[in-house]
Amino acid sequence: MNRVYNFSAGPSMLPESVLNRAAAEMLNYEGSGQSVMEMSHRSKVYDAIIKGAEALLREVMQIPDNYKVLFLQGGASSQFAMVPLNLMTKNRKADYVLSGQFSTKAYQEAKRYGDCKVIASSKEDTFSHIPALDKKEFRPDADYFHICMNNTIYGTVYHELPDTGDVPLVADISSCILSRPIDVSKFGVLYAGAQKNVAPAGLTIVIIREDLIGDVQEGTPTMFMYKTHADNESMYNTPPCYSIYMCKLVLEWIKNEIGGLENMEKLNVEKANLLYDFLDNSKLFKGCAEKDSRSIMNVTFVTGDADLDAKFVKEATAAGFVNLMGHRSVGGMRASIYNAMPREGIEKLVAFMQKFEEENA
Ligand SMILES: *Cc1c(COP(=O)(O)O)cnc(C)c1O
Repeated sequence: MNRVYNFSAGPSMLPESVLNRAAAEMLNYEGSGQSVMEMSHRSKVYDAIIKGAEALLREVMQIPDNYKVLFLQGGASSQFAMVPLNLMTKNRKADYVLSGQFSTKAYQEAKRYGDCKVIASSKEDTFSHIPALDKKEFRPDADYFHICMNNTIYGTVYHELPDTGDVPLVADISSCILSRPIDVSKFGVLYAGAQKNVAPAGLTIVIIREDLIGDVQEGTPTMFMYKTHADNESMYNTPPCYSIYMCKLVLEWIKNEIGGLENMEKLNVEKANLLYDFLDNSKLFKGCAEKDSRSIMNVTFVTGDADLDAKFVKEATAAGFVNLMGHRSVGGMRASIYNAMPREGIEKLVAFMQKFEEENA
């Protein structure tokens, strides 16, 4: 059976060598006589997996020692609440930038727990760019400043971080984690659902500066306190064992086969440029994101005719390019080209788009 090129926004493709390795280790992991799915999370053999995954994540992302890495559940969406419950504890104020649907959801959730200010929004322009930020609007007494770094639905990304001074910067990096190097020391908290670029669904990664762990708002459930998980090395309760194992294999792939995040970025930029160069020269297809906000992970485009968009998606699916339909809220097309999408998949997609353009001119 042939594998398809899967352009899904998440869950999404995993590297083939990782899937092969997981298959080979399925029935008997390292002589334990069991699969990783079946073993006790308190066993010695599993302990090496979770510790190994954390050590690799620290190495690959160059996470400073004063940050904790937490392997949680509940998706990035749970962080929309966990961040305010744990961080909005001094002045009960937080600043939010609205650059798409997920940052808006994060803001709406945080509003339930304190005074949240919208610093800027690009909603008027259907979130086709990262909004310009006026530093005079930032509140120096905010407990944190929240952004969504890569906007999965619209295909935009911050190319420059807001300068928030002493106010901790919190970023949702669900759809760009591990796509390129980032300076972790510039952030108070980074969080990501793993199902875009790291592992199967079920794992949420939180990277948090140690001094931000401690106080919580009254009534915060134990499972929603960062301290609970930090004090118990992500083993307060059963962690998402298998996803953490897959995360470890993906990190080994990035380290050993790709050669680290600098190489990963280079490959990702080359892949994205294949598609953007085609879109910029096409007479039929047009990119949706403004050029200075373009994401290298999610590429959004339209023909300008909804019926033709639907025809394209249908024919692409039949040709083995699946999940190219845009998010249900915006329509059009979206090619999510995360780390595991091979360059060949994009080359073939571009050739297919070229042919479609000729046939439908
Ligand atoms: C997918 C996504 C989410 C939602 O993640 P869940 O793990 O499904 O809760 C949040 N933010 C961004 C940027 C995403 O891409």
